[in-house]
Amino acid sequence: MKAIPTSTGKVFITGAGPGDINLVTLRAKAVMEQADVVLYDNLINTEMLCWAPEHAEKIFVGKLPYCSVITQETINQWMVDHASCGKRVVRLKGGDPLIFGRGAEEASFLRKNGIEFEIIPGITSGIAAGAYAGIPLTHRESAQMVLFVTGHTKKGKTTGLNFNWPMLAGFDGTIVFYMGVKNIGRIAEELVAAGKSPETLAAVVENGSLLHQRVISGNLANISNEVMAASIGTPALIIVGEVVRYHQELNWFAGIQQQLRQQIA
Ligand code: SAH
Repeated sequence: MKAIPTSTGKVFITGAGPGDINLVTLRAKAVMEQADVVLYDNLINTEMLCWAPEHAEKIFVGKLPYCSVITQETINQWMVDHASCGKRVVRLKGGDPLIFGRGAEEASFLRKNGIEFEIIPGITSGIAAGAYAGIPLTHRESAQMVLFVTGHTKKGKTTGLNFNWPMLAGFDGTIVFYMGVKNIGRIAEELVAAGKSPETLAAVVENGSLLHQRVISGNLANISNEVMAASIGTPALIIVGEVVRYHQELNWFAGIQQQLRQQIA
């Protein structure tokens, strides 16, 4: 196994991909195999933790409902403290660390503290969920543009959804909403109120790329009810746009899910 050269400590801000262990990059696996400390979030596939050497400390720093939250400041400090002792720290995040993942904030903190770091991209859940639902985010006939959107900003924490609705309603491409499923009713309503057709196709992908992935499709007028009827939970993404029409035709993963379920049963 080729050693990763680090004379002093270093932090690897690492994308763990969307969930399916096969979608993790070779680089992520290599740094996990040489980790002294792993600080991991809750949307990562925990099978990855087995790749770390026996001596490695594995510390969960994600958020869970009804549990006290380890603050971002604490996580930042732990990264610095461990790396300052010469340790190789893997900071493991779901999807891609720079897509709604605070990876850049952490990198800035490390830079300010003189700690070496590397950023390892991962497959973001928006891309993976589209692929596993048979929904191409772009298509020559249906979408020339893609928008990744989150309602959560540091500033907008209290109101939750502070989107520019006219801009979103006028966007003539695919819109992928991260962290929006709890507010899907309002998102659909606001898009329609701002001028998007209620007939605009929409889908929700829950647990994208995982064996228990579920896909609900409809349009802006009915998607919220469909999601409620199916009791869709988290993690889930909303995909809005013409490309949702390919779901029925290209839904290749449903067959695999069925096969795997039969094998397990
Ligand atoms: N950095 C991550 C996103 C973190 S924000 C990435 O690149 O994917 C967390 C949000 O991502 C969740 O609320 C959900 O909207 C989405 N998400 C993460 N994993 C997902 C999955 N397997 N299926 C569907 N949505 C997912």
